[in-house]
Amino acid sequence: MVVVMTPDASDTQVDAVVSRVRNIGGEAFVSRGVRRTIVGLIGDVDQFRALNLRRMAGVADVIRVSTPYKLVSREHYPSRSTVVVGQSSERPGVSIGPGFFTLLAGPCAVESLDQALEAAEMARAAGASLLRGGAFRPHTSPQAFRGLGKSALRILAEAGAATGLPVVTEIMDAKDIDLVSEYADMLQIGARNMQNYALLDAVGRIAKPVLLKRGIQATVEEWLSAAEYVAQRGNLDIVLCERGIRTFEQATPATLDISAVPTVQRLSHLPVIVDPTHASGRRDLVLPLARAAIAVGADGVLIDVHPDPDSALCDGPQALAGSEIRELASAIRRLAPLLDRRTT
Ligand code: PEP
Repeated sequence: MVVVMTPDASDTQVDAVVSRVRNIGGEAFVSRGVRRTIVGLIGDVDQFRALNLRRMAGVADVIRVSTPYKLVSREHYPSRSTVVVGQSSERPGVSIGPGFFTLLAGPCAVESLDQALEAAEMARAAGASLLRGGAFRPHTSPQAFRGLGKSALRILAEAGAATGLPVVTEIMDAKDIDLVSEYADMLQIGARNMQNYALLDAVGRIAKPVLLKRGIQATVEEWLSAAEYVAQRGNLDIVLCERGIRTFEQATPATLDISAVPTVQRLSHLPVIVDPTHASGRRDLVLPLARAAIAVGADGVLIDVHPDPDSALCDGPQALAGSEIRELASAIRRLAPLLDRRTT
């Protein structure tokens, strides 16, 4: 069951709901999103019914949810959510969700200050509103470039500050949670870690948005259940990212499951973006797949760019150079309004 609090519910009212549930031996998880707080209940549904939670102050609704993922399910909250990244007293933040189409772009891996600044400037000039960049790099081969770690985080934050773009970067280990949150505005869980439950719990406990990529072999239900882990720990600011799944097809490293976008949007209120770069692994496919993402109703795209893709330390064949990211951004500006979305 899920208790939806009114937008103006106070902490005391939320605590009162939690105590009432815990007093009868149930579990209650509070999740706070930008616009609402919800409390997920685990335990005996008949006992919960007898508590009359709906009558409590600050409670808007109590809903029985039949899916294994409750807090992220659309059954409990019919309107789609918007996640705001990088909001502070100095800046309004970047919205990802219905009505917007958001371009996230940047280098696959941070290689040096010059490379990151140049890539960030390419992204900004093309119209990106969020800067991506890898500091801790997951790779299938241990021989591949694994990232500069902490120094890359510093560089990325500097590139973000220089361009005014909030920063998103991948976290691979729960022990790095304080370090990565110090530098990033949004934390990415990569495909390989989608079911790393310690990591999901860790990002669920912080007050920063999470970009949750779909695991390469994950079903939609497994993906949404992973999001539920994050939500259950208290963080509802989750953006899902479809990045292709493994199929028998060998022409690309993964097959972009474009149907997952409307499927997930029907099942969950969370925003969904698409990563055409890692799905295709091929620069020539990034633009057509980004167009498909816009057409299918995605809330944004995540794109690798590099000032000199041929010299990139990793994933050069999939990175866009300056003219290519400009072409992609111009396609977004033309197509997104046709689907009632404004670019952020
Ligand atoms: C990435 O975005 O840098 C990345 C490695 O993607 P994925 O986890 O989807 O492979």
